[in-house]
Amino acid sequence: VPLILTDFLDRAVKYYSNKTAVIDGERRLTYKEVAQRVQKLTRGLQSLGIEKGDRVSYLAPNSLEMFEGFYGVFQAGGVMNSLNTRLKPEDYIFILNHAESKVLFVDHVLYERIKGIKDQLETVETFIVHGMEEDKGEDLSYEKWLAGFKDSPAERAPLEENDLACLLYTSGTTGNPKGVMLTHRSSYLHALTTMHHLRVRDDDTLLHVLPMFHVNGWGSPFYYTANGCTQVMQREMDGHSILENVKSEGVTVMHMAPTVLNMVIESYGSLKDPYKLDQELRIVIAGSAPPPAFVKRIEEDLKWEFIQVYGMTETSPLVTTSQLLTEQKDLAPEDKHRLKAKQGYEMIGSDVRVVNDEGEDVPWDGKSAGEIVVRSNNVMEGYWKNPEATASTIRDGFFHTGDMANVDEGGYVEIVDRKKDVIISGGENISSIEVEGVLYEHPAVLEAAIISVPHEKWGEAPHAIVVLREEAEVTQDDLIQFAREHMAHFKVPKGITFTDALPKTASGKIQKVQLRKPFWEGKD
Ligand code: ATP
Ligand code: MG
Repeated sequence: VPLILTDFLDRAVKYYSNKTAVIDGERRLTYKEVAQRVQKLTRGLQSLGIEKGDRVSYLAPNSLEMFEGFYGVFQAGGVMNSLNTRLKPEDYIFILNHAESKVLFVDHVLYERIKGIKDQLETVETFIVHGMEEDKGEDLSYEKWLAGFKDSPAERAPLEENDLACLLYTSGTTGNPKGVMLTHRSSYLHALTTMHHLRVRDDDTLLHVLPMFHVNGWGSPFYYTANGCTQVMQREMDGHSILENVKSEGVTVMHMAPTVLNMVIESYGSLKDPYKLDQELRIVIAGSAPPPAFVKRIEEDLKWEFIQVYGMTETSPLVTTSQLLTEQKDLAPEDKHRLKAKQGYEMIGSDVRVVNDEGEDVPWDGKSAGEIVVRSNNVMEGYWKNPEATASTIRDGFFHTGDMANVDEGGYVEIVDRKKDVIISGGENISSIEVEGVLYEHPAVLEAAIISVPHEKWGEAPHAIVVLREEAEVTQDDLIQFAREHMAHFKVPKGITFTDALPKTASGKIQKVQLRKPFWEGKD
C-alpha cells in the first residue's frame, strides 16, 4: 500500500467524523465538514487543469483554508508550495517562477502584496483569494468559487508514495531560500515517528502557532489529523492572543519558535489576573536553540513541560528530540533543564551522526564538535532544479546539515552553532549560541544575537546585538562585565549594539546574515 498523506484525513473522517477538526476564529468545523470542503476543492483544482505533479501555491496565515488546502492539493495530485507570509514581492516573484506554479491561493490580507506583481508571475494562471467576498476582475473569490463544486467524494489522482507532496523553500537564514522536494513517503514516515515521540493523543487540542506554510508547522497537520485531534488556528504571533486561545479552547499542545514563546512568557507575566494554565499543556519547540535559562523559566515558573525538537526543511523536518528517557525522570531539576536544552537523541527512523572533517564519528565526550549528518526516510529528494546543491549536501547517503554539535556520553546531541555562525577569533572557535546563552541569564536581556565582526588583531571578534526588556536600564559596560564573570575572556563580546528588534525569518529565527552585513561592508 503506498504511503499517501491523504490517508490521514480519511482516517479522521472514519473514526472522528463529528468531532471538531478545525477552529478558526468564529468558524468551527467537524472532520466530516472539512472533508466535504476538501472534495469541492479537489474538483475545483481539477477544473483548473491541475494534474499529478503540478505545483499549487499558497500564501496564507494559519487558517481553515490553508488546512484544507493540503488535502485538496494532494487529492488532485498536486504539489503543495506554501509561501512564507513575511517575504518581499521580489521573493514571491523568484519563488513562484522558480517553482513554476500554476495556481496561487492568497489570503485577502496578503492580496495587496500580490496585485502589483501579477504580470511578473510567468506561470500562474489563476489567482484565488481567501476571504474576499466578490470576484475582482479575473481574481476569484474562494468561497464563491468553491460553492460551484459538489461535495461528494472526488476522483483522486493516482499517486505513488515517491511522488512529490511538496516543494518547500528553506527559511533563508543563511542566504537565498532553496526549494526542498519532499515526497508523500517522507512526510508520511515523518508523521508516524513524530506522533510517537511527541506522544500525540486523540484527545489533544493543538494550537497551530508555528506557521503551517513553513516545514515546522507543515508536518503537524498530518499527525494531529491522523489522531483526530482538534486543531486551533493561530493567526497572529502575539503573546496575549495565544494565551487567550489556550484558555478558551483548552489547548494541550503548542509548537512554537523560542522567540514566540518568549513573547508568550512575557505576556503571561504581565497578565493582571494570571490564570492557571492547563497542566496537560505540553510545549514543543523547534527552530533554534533555547538557552537553559529559558527551559528553567518555562518548567519552573510556568510549570509547562518542555520538549525540544531539532530538524530542518530538508528532513521533513524533525530528526531529534530532547524528551527525557524514563530513566531520566528522577534527575534533579537543573540536570533535566540542561538535558532538555540540548537537541537530544535521534528519532526512530533517523540515523543521526556527528562527524569530523574526515567523516569519522566524534567521540561521545560532550566536547568534541563535528557536523551533524543524517540518513533517514525523512530526507528530501533534493533541491528543486539545483542538482549541484543537492550533490554537495547529500554525500555518501548522508545529508550534511551545516550544524555543528557535540554528543555527550549518553548520546544526546547538542548543537554548538551553525557552521556559518561560528566565530573564529585568533584561531579559537567561539559558539555564538553559547555566548547568547550567558547573556540571556542577565535579567535585563530580552533577546541577544552574537555575530562575528572584523577585528584588526584577531581577524574576527564576537559582537552582541541586544534587545532589552521594557524599562530595563543597563549599559554596554555592565553587560560586558557580566559576560566576563561567566565565560572565558576570549569569548566575551568586544562590543554591544542595543536595538529595538532583531530581524527574523517568518519562523522566528534571527537572521544573522542581515546583522553581520553592515559590519562587513567593503571587507571580507
Ligand atoms: P537556510 O537553509 O535557507 O539558510 P534555515 O536553515 O534556517 O535556512 P530551516 O530549514 O527552516 O531553514 O531551519 C533549519 C535549521 O534551523 C537547522 O539547520 C538548525 O540550524 C536550526 N535549528 C532547527 N532546530 C533547532 C534546534 N532545536 N536547536 C538549534 N538549532 C535548530
Ligand atoms: Mg538550512
